[in-house]
Amino acid sequence: MYPRAFHYHRASSLKEAANILAQLGEDAKFLAGGQSLIPLMKLRFANPRHLVDLNFIKGISYIKEDKSLLRIGALTRHAEIEHSATVGKIPILHDCAAGIADVQVRNRGTIGGSLAEADPSGDWATVLLALDASVRCAGRKAERTVPLTKFILDAYTTALAKDELVGEIVVKFRAKNSGGAYLAFKRSAPVYPTASAAVQLTLDGDTCADVSIVLGCVGLSPIKATGAEAALRGKKVNSKSIAEAADAARSAADPQPDMRGSAEYKRTLVGALVRQAIDIATRRARGERVEISHIYA
Ligand SMILES: Cc1cc2nc3c(=O)[nH]c(=O)nc-3n(C[C@H](O)[C@H](O)[C@H](O)COP(=O)(O)OP(=O)(O)OC[C@H]3O[C@@H](n4cnc5c(N)ncnc54)[C@H](O)[C@@H]3O)c2cc1C
Repeated sequence: MYPRAFHYHRASSLKEAANILAQLGEDAKFLAGGQSLIPLMKLRFANPRHLVDLNFIKGISYIKEDKSLLRIGALTRHAEIEHSATVGKIPILHDCAAGIADVQVRNRGTIGGSLAEADPSGDWATVLLALDASVRCAGRKAERTVPLTKFILDAYTTALAKDELVGEIVVKFRAKNSGGAYLAFKRSAPVYPTASAAVQLTLDGDTCADVSIVLGCVGLSPIKATGAEAALRGKKVNSKSIAEAADAARSAADPQPDMRGSAEYKRTLVGALVRQAIDIATRRARGERVEISHIYA
């Protein structure tokens, strides 16, 4: 189906984009990679009367190392992140970018659009929450930085004001004794995961000094599995503590049954993903180079 007719606007800066949106109001939407918005428009689930194209704004697609911080511009494509050597220093980001949908979607879709969409099945929010990332929001008059924990408010709902847009995503580089892993289980490449798990942990010898565990696609937004974290933090990482963390993750999940599986299936699945992700994160924290990809049914 063709989308309803719309007016096309081209912004030349983030500020101009925010201004145009403020003037046009509820009937306008930003266009980034179009990988969520355009299918919705074609199905006529979204019928904006105005599209404000962000693709011609110079300097908002970048991956920069800024001392202890990694800065990723909102319009950076999943594929650019997948192939970036700088991003490779935080392997969990590569795990995520390399597994999103297929090559076509990765070549067009952007990290900023993905966070702004706040799809409960999207991959980026789960991984970036595990990394305590923050989002730089650009407005008409000012900018503000919002921790991701306060940015995703609910399914398809963010803390962005009506005249604000995602400008940049900021992540701290980790110490050498820190490792992370992101595993998503999918029925095939061009579909969203059935469940996913992001783990970032720091070791002190064999002991887990700190850990962040986030579950994806098993709730209306990514779930920080604090019980699972508590099962590992301060403990030796071994089969017993990993099994306890996986059990706690299963309990924290709040999945809905759908075409991808029953609630109980997803709960079991997410526990298994957490178990594997902890194992890989631990090996990476010990300096082992472990290549992983999403798991396909
Ligand atoms: C077949 C298919 C399979 C997919 N599978 C996956 C998957 O497995 N995992 C996954 O994570 N994603 C998946 N996606 C979605 C893909 O990752 C999209 O790229 C992403 O969700 C949205 O990014 P976009 O740049 O395309 O945004 P767009 O579609 O252009 O925009 C999405 C929404 O965000 C708003 N927006 C865009 N940029 C900004 C900004 N900078 N600031 C504020 N608002 C903004 C738009 O107005 C719109 O409302 C899939 C998409 C398709 C078509």
